[in-house]
Amino acid sequence: MAKQVKNPNYKGKKKISLQNIKKYLYVAAVVFIVAYYLLGNLPDQQAEQGETGNTQFQSVLTDTVSAGEGIELEYELAGSSQANMTDKGGNATDRSDWLVSVKSYKDVMPQGFSLESIPEYNGAKYVPVNGNVPYFTENEKKLARQGYFEYYGDLDSYGRCTVAFDCLGRETMPPSNQKRGDISSIHPTGWKQARYDCVDSETVMTRAHLAGYILSAENANEKNLVTGTRYMNSDSMLEFENEVRYYIYDNSGKHVLYRVTPIYKGSELMPRGILMEARSVEDSGFGLQYCVYVYNVQPGIEFDYSTGRSQYTGIFFDTDSDTVITDDISLSSYGLDKATNTIHSPFCSKFAEVSAENRTGFAGDTEMQSQWAKMGYTLCSECLK
Ligand SMILES: [Zn+2]
Repeated sequence: MAKQVKNPNYKGKKKISLQNIKKYLYVAAVVFIVAYYLLGNLPDQQAEQGETGNTQFQSVLTDTVSAGEGIELEYELAGSSQANMTDKGGNATDRSDWLVSVKSYKDVMPQGFSLESIPEYNGAKYVPVNGNVPYFTENEKKLARQGYFEYYGDLDSYGRCTVAFDCLGRETMPPSNQKRGDISSIHPTGWKQARYDCVDSETVMTRAHLAGYILSAENANEKNLVTGTRYMNSDSMLEFENEVRYYIYDNSGKHVLYRVTPIYKGSELMPRGILMEARSVEDSGFGLQYCVYVYNVQPGIEFDYSTGRSQYTGIFFDTDSDTVITDDISLSSYGLDKATNTIHSPFCSKFAEVSAENRTGFAGDTEMQSQWAKMGYTLCSECLK
């Protein structure tokens, strides 16, 4: 069974009513303008001491961030303030211009990617795509060289998240003392919670940030939260988020162009997987570059991606030993032909003819055969009648 890592960002939840949020949104936004202006004009050192000296600012920021729909507003304001505040090579006017262009940025899907080219999940939690090189266009790379930004695509006609496209740096990250806010008010498409003993913390569905909180300081932004399995969110995605995070920590003042795209099949509500692209900006991808598709799966569970409903299968993959393991009381060892998903006795002469690359193990109890069949495995007609 695959290792599971606890998500250190996972916090308990409390409910906030949407009405209350909306009610205070306007007030919070106005307060934010003032707070941002003041905080933004503090010297860096002082801003970092926020936990002791500026508790008031912290609570103002948190309020605004958890206001959900205020996020869009926040970045518009942040953008125009920054334009006057910091000059990173271009002049202030240029910087305002490109922030406006990010707002109207239409072409958000990576051109060239297709779900059809992705192999079926077979135990590996992700696969490199496009030779591990992101699909960023020259214009997108050029945009990133002008400074940090955050863009969250509008929900599509099914109400689904579309894309998070960010140029990340220390500026976009939350202050080290700021805890992630409450996100339980958001119910992404395909949200059907279920509990299983085989899942860490039992609940299988999580609200997966496209751009992780630790990178973007985004909380309850409905454009940035999708229905993701705990395995994908806390294990697969976290690994790639951490690469960005450590790059930024290790390379002061540098940035990472980052795009996270949920990949849906047709009109399904739960993404099949997530395309994650990252490229370090100032060293043109030398320090960090990847392009991977992570599977939105949970070992032992299968999903109806059109609704988000799930059920226990008891079938796990152990990638270390390259063995399919079923959750049965008594296990027997079989041989599996990966190409045809046919289960053999290890001594079957037909299994001996299977090429080495397609030959793998299968451990289970023959009493579970009907379950195996549901998962698409068939028994060899000669050795396992
Ligand atoms: Zn056989």
